[in-house]
Amino acid sequence: MQKEKVIVIGSGPAGLTAALYTARAMLNPLVISGSELGGQISITNEVENYPGFPEGITGPELVELMQKQAEKFGARILIDEVTEVNFRDGPPFSLTTHGDTFEAEVVIICVGASPIRLGVPGEEEMIGRGVSFCATCDGFFFRDKEVVVVGGGDSAMEEALFLTRFASSVKVIHRRDELRAGETLKKRAFANEKISFIWDTVVEEILGDGKVEAVRTRNVKTDETGELATDGIFIYIGHYPNTSLFEGQLEMDERNYLVTDKHMSTSAPGVFAAGEVQDSTFRQVATSVGQGCAAAMMTERWLEERE
Ligand code: NAP
Repeated sequence: MQKEKVIVIGSGPAGLTAALYTARAMLNPLVISGSELGGQISITNEVENYPGFPEGITGPELVELMQKQAEKFGARILIDEVTEVNFRDGPPFSLTTHGDTFEAEVVIICVGASPIRLGVPGEEEMIGRGVSFCATCDGFFFRDKEVVVVGGGDSAMEEALFLTRFASSVKVIHRRDELRAGETLKKRAFANEKISFIWDTVVEEILGDGKVEAVRTRNVKTDETGELATDGIFIYIGHYPNTSLFEGQLEMDERNYLVTDKHMSTSAPGVFAAGEVQDSTFRQVATSVGQGCAAAMMTERWLEERE
């Protein structure tokens, strides 16, 4: 059993910022990285909306810089996954990874959320090469290009509308003949000349040689299949927070996001959360960084009060 003062679970922008701040507060944090060091941002080609990088920066480069900065002040990063937690009996809280067991006085959860994937051939291979889950991050690269958006909810409409700033045409492919999105977004999408709709249709394959060139579609009513040429596909069929590990131990909302108060505290005193695991609204590097910073500052205060 390895005893720690602060354990940060997750190594995306929220986790690495929480690590930086707790390290500078001499709390010697241990970051347990999760399966993907850097989280979602590490699969983003280019980040142009994170302040301080006027020329833009690639996702992996930004993660590397954040990691270096946290490590410079003493944060330790363990490449492993947390497989079990016990927040019922702490603090101290116990955590198990594939390789070890830990005890921590404070845990900061920054495990993020994952976009739901279509699960079709070509999707995984062409992420960052025309397959995207984030118009805010990647829309700019589709200036004067033709793109498709998959989904019929609020997020898909927001994405589609945002993409019209850049793309020459946006085709929304939806599996039904009615949108799930609310009236306001629906109206705005219908009124936008660049947006057209392909109803009752699913994407069954993403085609391309190294980058997206077309999608193979199927009409679910007629079973008719077709190929639609496109430069990019933005998939917005929902996100899920990576919270299954905490079920029954921390309060969650109806969509399984962790519930936190304005001090980033979860329902278990001494367990904080930051970033997309508790935020379904903003989902930006800049907001996750801010929340990670806040969670770290509250950690420091919480430990001071206990001591
Ligand atoms: P959502 O409301 O769950 O919508 C997901 C959409 O993707 C639905 O149209 C769904 O089709 C479709 N879909 C799901 N699985 C699919 C699959 N395997 N293949 C093809 N299509 C699939 O998700 P969301 O749009 O991300 O929104 C999540 C929540 O955040 C909602 O409560 C939403 O209101 C809220 N939100 C609000 C705003 C806003 O108000 N500005 C913006 C973004 C999100 P069906 O319709 O057939 O189920």
